[in-house]
Amino acid sequence: MTISPPRASLLPLPLDHEAAPPRLHVITWGCQMNVYDSARMADVMAVAGFARADAPADADLVILNTCHIRDRAAEKVFSELGRLRLVQQARAAAGQRMMIAVAGCVAQAEGAELRARAPWVDIVLGPQTYHRLPDMVARARAGEHVIETDFPPEDKFDFLPEAAAPQTAGGLTAFLTIQEGCDKFCSFCVVPYTRGAETSRPAAAVLAEARRLVASGAREITLLGQNVNAWHGTAPDGATWGMGRLVRELAELPGLKRIRYTTSHPRDMDDDLISAHRDVPALMPFLHLPVQSGADRILAAMNRKHTAADYLRLVDKLRAARPDLALSSDFIVGHPGETDADFADTMALIRDVGFAQAFSFKYSARPGTPAAGRGEQVDSDVGDARLQELQALLRDQQAAFNRACQGLTLNVLFTGPGRQPGQIGGRSPYLQPVHLVGDAGLIGTEVPVTITAASPTSMTGTIEKERACA
Ligand code: SAM
Ligand code: SF4
Repeated sequence: MTISPPRASLLPLPLDHEAAPPRLHVITWGCQMNVYDSARMADVMAVAGFARADAPADADLVILNTCHIRDRAAEKVFSELGRLRLVQQARAAAGQRMMIAVAGCVAQAEGAELRARAPWVDIVLGPQTYHRLPDMVARARAGEHVIETDFPPEDKFDFLPEAAAPQTAGGLTAFLTIQEGCDKFCSFCVVPYTRGAETSRPAAAVLAEARRLVASGAREITLLGQNVNAWHGTAPDGATWGMGRLVRELAELPGLKRIRYTTSHPRDMDDDLISAHRDVPALMPFLHLPVQSGADRILAAMNRKHTAADYLRLVDKLRAARPDLALSSDFIVGHPGETDADFADTMALIRDVGFAQAFSFKYSARPGTPAAGRGEQVDSDVGDARLQELQALLRDQQAAFNRACQGLTLNVLFTGPGRQPGQIGGRSPYLQPVHLVGDAGLIGTEVPVTITAASPTSMTGTIEKERACA
């Protein structure tokens, strides 16, 4: 991979005070991929000389990295833009300029409309163009209203500087985007329009980034993609690898203790990846596998291309490969056409599978998606009632799953201080938060913990070594 830092002539000069470096503040909404993208935009701007600002009031450039998946997510962006306008005006009154850039999926979907609604925005950039950010900042500084929402011919990853550091949990856990976009066109979803067609990063680029993350302290890497298990990367020898092979290669990296991936589509869960769950101890026994609905009529209307029975068969296969696998999912209630009987099928599927945790949403009509134009929209109150019923069941299942962990000894990767003073905190293999009184020197290590108590959302326990010594 060729990494070309932005051309020097394009780098923006300090915006206000020529001596101090200009400062950047990034606000992120949405999925883990946006968290990753925000970190990479900060990397690009660091090369261009920008230091970090902790608050918008201290920033010469504020980037809003946005999410368009549901109506409410998009509306939050406009509320924040209203607040930022006041900060921008206050800075202007003090003789300091503050530029505002809107990035991510709202920017991609709204483009010029966004600037029409919020003319104080300087830059609108889509998720595929953030490697060009320094150039955009230079142009905006010269007075241009920059809108870059095309899908450029070049691959942004070829132009990004190396990822600076793991992004989360004290640098011990890191996200690594390996796949972007989606060709599946579910009826309700904006992703194929905002993120474009499915693309996979080459295996060598993924492995090189993983090596750098581990060298800078990451002990856990979560591979990311809108459809992560659709990843098919070109291998160094020209062959094509699937996710199963990639996971096996990553597991060989010394120092990398845990591998996760999200989000997967049931149709892309191939046998090699399933067998990696059996064969690779570093691949954590926790899988986020969205099903959306348990009713075949609705799954067909959603264009999911799998039935409820397909999903249940897949879960059986996965559990045969890895019996302690814990599952998580996404559900949408109130998709156009969903009847009480369809909703009952979804509840039945949830009871059949038994989820360790899950995300659930009321259907939100997204302009331009096929479902938004359909008749048979479900009454909003009916959607609310179904969501409450479904979430109550999922909460019970999560609590039951955590309770069932009491008495088990689970490896916990400690990543920082716990909730209470004197505690350290981390995550179990099943992604449950674990907090206990322990030596801060254990942060950064994976330690066997016997779980002694569990609440619906977290657990505590005794560190095995201490118990053995006691
Ligand atoms: N690629 C993943 C998959 O196929 O399951 C999903 C990615 S999407 C960013 C995350 C979740 O948002 C979806 O699984 C779905 O449950 C939810 N979602 C997407 N569009 C939605 C909409 N229009 N209304 C409500 N929820 C939606
Ligand atoms: Fe959206 Fe996922 Fe469907 Fe793609 S597979 S359209 S990202 S819900």
